[in-house]
Amino acid sequence: MITRKNPDELAKMRRAGRVVAETIAAVAAAVRPGITTGELDTIAEHEIRSRGAVPSFLGYRGFPATICTSINHEIVHGIPGRKVLSEGDLFKLDCGAIVEGFHADSAVTIPVGEVAPELSKLIETTERALWAGIEEVRVGNRLGDIGHAVQTVAEGAGFSVVREYVGHGVGRALHEEPPVPNYGDPSRGIRLEPGLVIAIEPMVNVGGKETVLLEDGWTVVTEDGSHSAHFEHTVAVTPEGPEVLTAPAAH
Ligand code: MG
Ligand code: MG
Repeated sequence: MITRKNPDELAKMRRAGRVVAETIAAVAAAVRPGITTGELDTIAEHEIRSRGAVPSFLGYRGFPATICTSINHEIVHGIPGRKVLSEGDLFKLDCGAIVEGFHADSAVTIPVGEVAPELSKLIETTERALWAGIEEVRVGNRLGDIGHAVQTVAEGAGFSVVREYVGHGVGRALHEEPPVPNYGDPSRGIRLEPGLVIAIEPMVNVGGKETVLLEDGWTVVTEDGSHSAHFEHTVAVTPEGPEVLTAPAAH
C-alpha cells in the first residue's frame, strides 16, 4: 500500500529529516584517519537522542547500531565496530531518525583524507546521479523517470548501478511501498502524486553491478571487490516540486 502524507505528517517528517541532516553533518565532521566506525556510531546516537529523536536503524530487524558504516567495496549496511578508517578510504554513512513516529533516511559518501582521482569521480557522479533523480520528483512524472535519470548519469560516467538494493517509500515505516529503483525506463511505473515521500538512494560501483551479502547477514559488498559509493535523500512530492527533507540547506 502506498501512503500519502498529510501536511501534519509532512511537518513531522521535515523535523526527522532535519535531525538526520544535522547528525550526518556531525559524524562527517568527525571522520578522519584513525577513528573507528564504532566511535562514529556513538556520536550519531548522541546527536539523534539529544534532539529528542530515536534512531531508525537500531533494532530494525535486529540491526545492532544507530548508523550503517560501509567502507570501500562495502556497498551498504555495514555494522559499526572496531574497523579503523584509513587515509584514502571511501566511507559511507547511512542514517535514519524517528520523530513522533515518522522516519527520515539519508546517506552520504565521505572521502577519508585524500582519495584516488577515480574515487573522487565516483563520489561526485553518485551524488550528481541522486540529484538528477530528485529533479524528476514532480507531480505527473512517473517512478521510472527517477530511475532513468539516476542510471543515465551513473552509466554515462562509466560506472554501474546496483540492482539488488533500491530506494523506497518512507513514513511511519522506514521502508514503505513503492520500491524506488535507480534504473529503468522513463514514463513507466506509478505516477508521482503530492504527499508521496520516497528515499532515493543510488549505489554506484566502479566495476560490475553484482553484489554479495556477507556472513554477518548485513554487509553488502561488490562481487568484484571494486569500490562503491552511496548517496540518499528523503524527498517529498509537492505541487511546487521536490522537497528534500534531509537536506541541511533546506532548513
Ligand atoms: Mg538509508
Ligand atoms: Mg533508505
